[in-house]
Amino acid sequence: MTPAKSPTAPQQDGRTAAAEGTAVTAGAAARPDRVLVITAHPDDVEFCAAGTVMQWTDQGASVTYCVLTDGDNGGFDEALPRQTVAPLRRAEQKAAARAAGVHDVRFLGYPDGRLEPSMQLRRDITRVIRQTRPDLVILPSPEINWDRIADVHPDHRAAGDAALRAVYPDARNPFAHPTLYREQNLATWEVPEIWLITGPSPNHWVDITEVFPRKLAALRLHTSQTAHLAELEALLTRWQTEHATQGGLGPGRLAEAFQVVRLG
Ligand SMILES: [Zn+2]
Repeated sequence: MTPAKSPTAPQQDGRTAAAEGTAVTAGAAARPDRVLVITAHPDDVEFCAAGTVMQWTDQGASVTYCVLTDGDNGGFDEALPRQTVAPLRRAEQKAAARAAGVHDVRFLGYPDGRLEPSMQLRRDITRVIRQTRPDLVILPSPEINWDRIADVHPDHRAAGDAALRAVYPDARNPFAHPTLYREQNLATWEVPEIWLITGPSPNHWVDITEVFPRKLAALRLHTSQTAHLAELEALLTRWQTEHATQGGLGPGRLAEAFQVVRLG
């Protein structure tokens, strides 16, 4: 992982300070009202952000998951008929979402492994942004993280690129994707803040120690992806410990890492 950029001591002041580079203790991050999480594949949010999401939903936040592909190229069981994979992975994602208190899950149905930041994808993400009107969007970083290149699928960067373009400028521009505005009556929406996952420059760490067992359980609901991973808990613990250390949290703590960007 890339070394932390001068992590500060844990603070209690949530999102405003987050953009300056902070770690936040469990439950201390000011919860947003409406959150949209955009990911390339089913299970991405469970690996990267579900601990943070479930702490927000526990406090009453309304969260939507928007999954761009059905993950139909994923899995480990070659005997599984491939046409059964997409519906299976949608069902797994819905179950994992429920475990995090998320009841609005939208699938855009793009092909797994071939995601590109096309105008069509930008339009489809813009539609969801205008429908949900989030005050915070979690999305994959479009940047290459050379320290994690083997772990981060190219679909994640394509998803991040398309989502970033949808957040800015498409969702706030009435002249972008005019059919959304004229025919579907979807007014523009300005997303004030984004949290990037899997990127090379995290500046904000959320302590998820208390909800780690729930995050692990949600991840295990993606049976087609995780049932063969005997070391899943150890792997996840190692990653979250690295994030906590990077963020300056105390020993024994577990954290998720984000790059917080205010859009103004
Ligand atoms: Zn993925």
